Amino acid sequence: MAPPETPSQASALAHVRAAIDKACSAAGRSPDDVTLVAVSKTHDAPDILPVLEAGHRVFGENRVQEAKGKWPALRAAYQDVELHLIGPLQSNKAADAVALFDVIQSVDRDKLVAVLSQEMLRQKKHPKLFVQVNTGLEPQKAGIAPQELAAFLARADREHGMRFAGLMCIPPVDEDPVPHFNMLAQLARANGLAELSMGMSSDFAAAIAAGATLVRVGSAIFGARPAAHPPAARSPDT
Ligand SMILES: *Cc1c(COP(=O)(O)O)cnc(C)c1O
Repeated sequence: MAPPETPSQASALAHVRAAIDKACSAAGRSPDDVTLVAVSKTHDAPDILPVLEAGHRVFGENRVQEAKGKWPALRAAYQDVELHLIGPLQSNKAADAVALFDVIQSVDRDKLVAVLSQEMLRQKKHPKLFVQVNTGLEPQKAGIAPQELAAFLARADREHGMRFAGLMCIPPVDEDPVPHFNMLAQLARANGLAELSMGMSSDFAAAIAAGATLVRVGSAIFGARPAAHPPAARSPDT
C-alpha cells in the first residue's frame, strides 16, 4: 500500500499554528506572546518556499554553513525574514553568524561571548542573544550549567557589556521535558530575562504552558528529516 500523502508544508504550518493558539488559550496566554520558529535545517528552498509563501517569516537553522548556503537567496526574495541560529556555534564561525543571523540562541561559553562581542562591534550589527542552558547536565550537550548561569551572565556584562534577551534549552530526549521547561522559566525569572526558547514538535504545547515565548518546530512543519548522523558506510570489502 502506498504511504499516505504528506500534507503540504503550508497545511502543516496551519496545523501547528492552530495547536499553538489552543495551547495559548488553555494557558490563558496571548498567541502574540509566542513566536513560532520554523526549523528548516536539512531542508532546501523547495521545502521552505511554501512556508514563506504562506506568510511565515521566522526560521531556525542549526548550522552556520548550511544557512549561509541557502538563506541569502531566499532573503533576497523575502527581505523581512528573521533567522535564528539554534545550533552550536564555533568561534571561527562567529563572524558569519553575526552577519547572517538576527538571533543567536546558542551562546554557551565565555570564549564565544568574547568573540561575538568583537564581531558585533566590528560589523556594527547586534543580533539578539540567548544563553543555552544545559538543564539536564548532559555531558555531550552544549550549554551553561543552571548553577553557573548567574555568574556567566555577570561576567558577560562586566567584561563585554553583553546583555541577553533570554534562555534556551533542549531537554534530554528520554525524560519528561516539563521539569526542564519549569527550571528554565525559573532561571529566567531569577535573572530578569524575558524570553524563553523551549519546546519542539513533540512538546511545544507543554512548553507554552510553562511560559515559552519562542517554540522551535521542525518536523511537524517540514516532515521527518534524514537521521542527523547516518551510520558510516561500510567499506566495500566487508
Ligand atoms: C532540530 C531542532 C529543533 C526542531 O526539532 P523538531 O523535533 O523537528 O521540531 C528544535 N531545536 C533545536 C535546537 C533543533 O536542533
